[in-house]
Amino acid sequence: MGLQQSDALDVARIREDFPILQREFDGEQLVYLDNGATSQTPDRVVDVIADYYRHSNANVHRGIHQLSQEASKAYEEAHDTVAEFVGAEGREEMVFTKNTTEAENLVAYAWGLNELGPGDEIVLTEMEHHASLVTWQQIGKRTGADVKYVPVTDEGYLDMDAAAEMITDDTEMVSVVHVSNTLGTVNPVSDLADLAHDHDAYIFVDGAQAVPNRPVDVKDIDADFYAFSAHKMAGPTGIGGLYGKQEILEEMEPFQYGGGMIRKVEFEDSTWHDLPWKFEPGTPLIAQGVGFAEAVEYLEDIGMTAIQRHEETLTEYALDRMAEFDDIEIYGPMDPTDRGGLVSFNLDSVHAHDLASIMNDHAVAIRAGDHCTQPLHDKLGVAASARASFYLYNTMDEIDALIDAIDSARELFA
Ligand code: PLP
Repeated sequence: MGLQQSDALDVARIREDFPILQREFDGEQLVYLDNGATSQTPDRVVDVIADYYRHSNANVHRGIHQLSQEASKAYEEAHDTVAEFVGAEGREEMVFTKNTTEAENLVAYAWGLNELGPGDEIVLTEMEHHASLVTWQQIGKRTGADVKYVPVTDEGYLDMDAAAEMITDDTEMVSVVHVSNTLGTVNPVSDLADLAHDHDAYIFVDGAQAVPNRPVDVKDIDADFYAFSAHKMAGPTGIGGLYGKQEILEEMEPFQYGGGMIRKVEFEDSTWHDLPWKFEPGTPLIAQGVGFAEAVEYLEDIGMTAIQRHEETLTEYALDRMAEFDDIEIYGPMDPTDRGGLVSFNLDSVHAHDLASIMNDHAVAIRAGDHCTQPLHDKLGVAASARASFYLYNTMDEIDALIDAIDSARELFA
């Protein structure tokens, strides 16, 4: 395959880091365009994890022996690396969770269940992922707090006038997705943080589709909480990051209890360890943490601004090429600079699942379904959509392969 590409990145070089991209299915080379679900993992990250198990594996925090000290140091320093990557002060503000979903649940249970009650309001948006939508919806039901949804305009943007009216002194939490995993929309999270803070509410930003693809600074945004998943940003599965402002995390009750998160335990009561360990009970995600930090360093070496530019170039190209079809509906903003590196769409004549299946016959991996945004799909009037999502190793040639595969699906169903 040739390597027509954006000038932002040396994609040919980058692809050497990802042997999985060389896989072929029935003689056709894999075109991996399902990065919004899970990205691929470079050799460097795989090697660090293997190396950890081969040479440094031990439990953390509790061992006096050398291996435990090494594992503890690597795990603790991984927090610093990931914290710095998103502009947090240090490890005190970076809790490792299982993923973005667990980060939402951590705050919803540890803060929401304790602080919310009847008369309080939680403001979400119509484009929330189920990770945020279902979690806060259920916390609303359990606490009696009302849940409101900021509408999405026909062009795929948040209605910010409505947001300004909906966020009031009754609002306690605003939870908003930074980059929509369905529409691609990049939301004005900093403006939403200002609105929330004007009314003494907290803002939780779901950065699962933002941190992999663009520079993110949680302090610039002034987020109170910010969550993301390693497996979408060249890291391993099973680990994610929850940034929280230190003073808020200090005040919060723990989410789960057990060893590792306590300071002193007596039969009657217990006290809690320092941040972030207070929120990481039991044996934590040690190997994953080490891999997460390596992934962050890999992305930093390439440069987040360059990755963002590359994705904008690919997205613009995909939107242009898709515009060649007159029977396609593309969801979300049409300006590529207003969106992350993904495009969701439907063809008039081919169901999204059939489309993904035909693409699979051409070794083109895309996603079909509701992308964990069922209410948004209801609003769009469809049950499912197809989604192509790009990452730093994708090329314009691969978008051509996507377009060719769409074309053959159309012909098949004509
Ligand atoms: N939020 C958004 C915007 C996502 O795209 C996803 C994953 O697709 C999630 C949350 C949930 O991430 P995870 O499954 O890693 O918890």
